[in-house]
Amino acid sequence: HPGVLEVITGPMFSGKSEELIRRLKRAKIARQRVACYKPDIDLRYHRTAIASHSEQTMEAAVVTPNSERLREALFATDLVSQVDVVGLDEAQFFDDGIQPLALELVALGKRVILAGLDTTFANEPFGPVPALMALADRVTKLNAVCMVCGQPAIHTQRLGRSTELVVVGAAGMYEARCRAHFQPYVEPA
Ligand code: ADP
Repeated sequence: HPGVLEVITGPMFSGKSEELIRRLKRAKIARQRVACYKPDIDLRYHRTAIASHSEQTMEAAVVTPNSERLREALFATDLVSQVDVVGLDEAQFFDDGIQPLALELVALGKRVILAGLDTTFANEPFGPVPALMALADRVTKLNAVCMVCGQPAIHTQRLGRSTELVVVGAAGMYEARCRAHFQPYVEPA
């Protein structure tokens, strides 16, 4: 089986987790063996599952967003030889090592499905995701709905102030916005 790299991207609320869960559930229906991961940064809804904003869930192993740790989790126990599909949510939180790891898994014949934000709320490329998009077999870029006008939204608007790159899980801190209604977040002086 040739491996394949799939990237699901777009702003918050665009349905990335939903789409990842959908693909992984279908892989299971097809009797594929699935390993699913999410970083321990994002525990907003569930400690042991990928959860979408629409409350769909899928069991996932929670890992430190460190590509070397993830590699160990897959290879140390030889789990890698027992799975056909590897899913990862919130890929933007991982380091650049996620890219060679993903390609290594693909070379072993795995279907690798990564979901993650393409841009930060400052409108900058987010971590390893843009490079992963470039290297993927298939990129799915989803839109959310702009919370101002209802048009398709490609941006994540940060509401209020914070100095952290991403404050995860704080309700009401982010909104999906279209180009016209998005203002890139600027660090407070
Ligand atoms: P992501 O992983 O991209 O953040 P999720 O899969 O977690 O997205 O959530 C998508 C769901 O969020 C939608 O199906 C919808 O129920 C809900 N939702 C809330 N706000 C919005 C919005 N502004 N645009 C689209 N969907 C939204």
